Amino acid sequence: MDILKASISKLRQLIKDNKISSEEIVAQISERINKENPKLNALLTVVEKPEVNENMKDKPLYGIAFTLKDTYVTKGIRTTAGSRLLENYIPQYDATVYKKLKEAGAVLIGKTNCDAWGHGSSTENSDFGVTKNPWNQDYVAGGSSGGSAAAVASHLSPFSIGEDTGGSIRQPASFCSVVGLKVSYGLVSRYGSIAYASSLDTVGPITKTVEDCALVLDVIAGNDNQDATTNPAKPSHYSKSINNDIKGFKIGIPKEYFVEGIDKEVAEQVENSIKLFKKMGCEIVDITMPMTRYALSTYYLIATSETSSNLGRYDGIRYGNSRKDFGAEAKRRIMLGTFTLSAGYYDAYYKKATKVRTLIKNDFDQAFKKVDIILAPVSPTPAFKIGEKVNNPLQMYLSDILTIPVNLAGIPALSVPAGFTKYKLPVGVQLIGNRFEEEKLLNIGHKFEQERGELPSID
Ligand code: GLN
Repeated sequence: MDILKASISKLRQLIKDNKISSEEIVAQISERINKENPKLNALLTVVEKPEVNENMKDKPLYGIAFTLKDTYVTKGIRTTAGSRLLENYIPQYDATVYKKLKEAGAVLIGKTNCDAWGHGSSTENSDFGVTKNPWNQDYVAGGSSGGSAAAVASHLSPFSIGEDTGGSIRQPASFCSVVGLKVSYGLVSRYGSIAYASSLDTVGPITKTVEDCALVLDVIAGNDNQDATTNPAKPSHYSKSINNDIKGFKIGIPKEYFVEGIDKEVAEQVENSIKLFKKMGCEIVDITMPMTRYALSTYYLIATSETSSNLGRYDGIRYGNSRKDFGAEAKRRIMLGTFTLSAGYYDAYYKKATKVRTLIKNDFDQAFKKVDIILAPVSPTPAFKIGEKVNNPLQMYLSDILTIPVNLAGIPALSVPAGFTKYKLPVGVQLIGNRFEEEKLLNIGHKFEQERGELPSID
């Protein structure tokens, strides 16, 4: 069990000291997957013969097993995006994020479950069944990267790669008590990532610790000539600076994120986190971000417009099954998006939304003139029950209210476990940084985690 619970940094040390081999790690994980995955449904595909490459011993992630959200294409390995439409799709090429991880010595062991096309907040929109929360199997694991978060929390893989368009990495991380990083738009290549909403989609890690997040980011960040939206600047060495002193840092608390309807126990955990920052010598600054109230409608206009355009390629002619295999949520979003992009409505809806988006970004720009990071809840509630919101799409959309402003602004945010409710459901805290300031964000997140101390984990 120790091996299964170990962080990437611990595993790296054990491998280096010849205390364990990569084959043993993979064997233990495979056994765990066979036992736990039938209950959780976190993995849609298990790689039959995971490839450990002995010639990569000096690589940074040598021998470390991982899973990928099933929205990343993997040559020769089925990739479904959680949709029946791609049930039998075997890609011809590798996503850049996968290629980089392979080149760093990491070993792919499975593809994780998700809401079809990334549409959702609970994995209930997956065409292959819901992923259960490992802390309580009556509850959702969150979404859309619910399979990735559940896999890391229940030790089916030391880390996973999720995708965040409106909260899909941070919210499941918070629901499952693992760390999730939504990166700045343009930091990590999206080549080979099945597109949801192209002006919002980002690729990022889900891990057990903030340090592990930095170790994975060290490998996956950076320019890619296959993705014109990637930043040409050389990325930082994230894991190097996580131990820097954070005394005197300014932490902004936006009053609009502590709105009515926030669960009492979530608010309590966030209050405790603020206290920890005070204890570490940080300064707490009250800030205001008045445009936050427009974020949800702006997001759902932009996201549905862009997805209606992106999903147009699944015409059943070139690859994939027939359009009839789009699920109800995909159809709903295609219809909404087609409407908002159509002649006569484009200016009133899509174009207007892009203008409001700029105002939301301006709020963040103003805030970062005063503070180093912003602290907020990740989600207004802990994990909800399976079936609770499934017949009420608006209720489901509302659960993204605290994660989507970050995507609209293109900035990074980290979800770090803060504690548990009295019913033993995890609660995460959201730390938001300025664009391309992942180095500072991970430093602050790591210090917070150290001060918070060890939390319970799944047995
Ligand atoms: N829940 C949000 C949505 O349904 C975000 C999904 C995501 O980030 N992929 O759009």
